[in-house]
Amino acid sequence: SKRARLDRFISVKTGVSKKNVRAVLAKGLVKVDGVIARDIDLIIDEFSHVTFEDRVLQANQASYVMLHKPVGVVSANVDDKHKTVIDLLDRDDKHNLHIVGRLDLNTSGLLLLTNDGRWSKKLMSPEHKVGKLYRVSLQNPINESYIAAFASGMYFEYEDITTLPAKLEIVDEYTALVTLMEGRYHQIKRMFGRFRNPVIGLHRISVGAITLDADLLAGASRELTADEVLNA
Ligand code: URA
Repeated sequence: SKRARLDRFISVKTGVSKKNVRAVLAKGLVKVDGVIARDIDLIIDEFSHVTFEDRVLQANQASYVMLHKPVGVVSANVDDKHKTVIDLLDRDDKHNLHIVGRLDLNTSGLLLLTNDGRWSKKLMSPEHKVGKLYRVSLQNPINESYIAAFASGMYFEYEDITTLPAKLEIVDEYTALVTLMEGRYHQIKRMFGRFRNPVIGLHRISVGAITLDADLLAGASRELTADEVLNA
């Protein structure tokens, strides 16, 4: 983890012995996020702004980005064949970002990127039950029987798992809205595959409380708001 105790952090960064760090802190020479810190066992993280006298010891900005992923762009940081989602970003810190829940090459829609590992871990962990909403276009007509099949879960032999209950709503004969609480490999395509019904279009609309802006063009991105980061 990127968390550290303040006395250890100061000692490692400045070379001041841990014993002397106590005195340094007592003198009020260290500030964490602009406030004098005197507590040796204060826990800081990678995004805490830390100064010692007038020297900046750490200043990492946490970044959270919403990207409208187009079809044909790969959810990876590097790829030798395709353009990557990182290539689409125009920001200095883009190479420090990681993807929060990848989308297939031919899937479009909401993709989240961040440099905050704790945030992405929380969003992706099955315990947190963050719903991912997809609009799915099918080759063949769908019917009511799909709803129960998605709700009761499907056994995937390769991974030896049963999918968590998923919600399927019928929009029209060839269109469904599906909410997943997890993200198994090609999960939606494989679930419709059980009905021998190929997915011809897949688009992610939302992840938890974060919804892709309707006016964000494919390939475009924006910073998340503080509210979106907190309530995701
Ligand atoms: N399910 C899929 O099959 N592909 C995706 O990209 C996302 C969910």
